[in-house]
Amino acid sequence: MDTPSTAPRALVVVDVQVDFVEGGSLGVEGGHAVAEAVTHHLAAHRDAYALVAASRDWHEPHGTNGGHFAEPGTDPDFVDTWPAHCLRDEGGSDYAPGLDTAAVDVHLRKGVGEPAYSAFEAVDDDGRRLADLLRAAGVGDVDVVGIATDHCVRATVLDARREGFGVRLLDGLHAGVAPATTEAALGEMRAAGAVTGPWGPA
Ligand SMILES: [Zn+2]
Repeated sequence: MDTPSTAPRALVVVDVQVDFVEGGSLGVEGGHAVAEAVTHHLAAHRDAYALVAASRDWHEPHGTNGGHFAEPGTDPDFVDTWPAHCLRDEGGSDYAPGLDTAAVDVHLRKGVGEPAYSAFEAVDDDGRRLADLLRAAGVGDVDVVGIATDHCVRATVLDARREGFGVRLLDGLHAGVAPATTEAALGEMRAAGAVTGPWGPA
């Protein structure tokens, strides 16, 4: 058995936003359910976390945001180019309505004028990056949840491992765009040393 970790743990909620749940411009099936499940998780287990951070994709309303949005008149490839989404200060960039953000300590934004998938590319209102905020709180382990498993959650988990954090991806608290890419992403996360599985006390 592994020795239980004693380092403080953080929860990182990735991009649970209106445009990434059903009805949004890049809506993911199961997105609304993830928002509500994260709310329930926090209601039950907030005390397990030294810090709760939430990221939002936050793009400029004009231009392609560094090629992240498909050029007008061209089709997005849904790999590197996407339909417009999460325009800053508009409804689509809001947190999804099912997510209760009362327990969120740190609000992060990413993607202003550029592609940004990982929450570790995001900054808070004072320009502080997630890795620095976690270290300042003494955090050694993170639980990652959110949308989409095969894109921004994947990038966040892999960056968390690169930054040296222990990582769990919690069952039932994330949703992917497509089954094949989601399975591939889960495999990459495990290969990088992340644990994927149900919630349980560390
Ligand atoms: Zn984006």
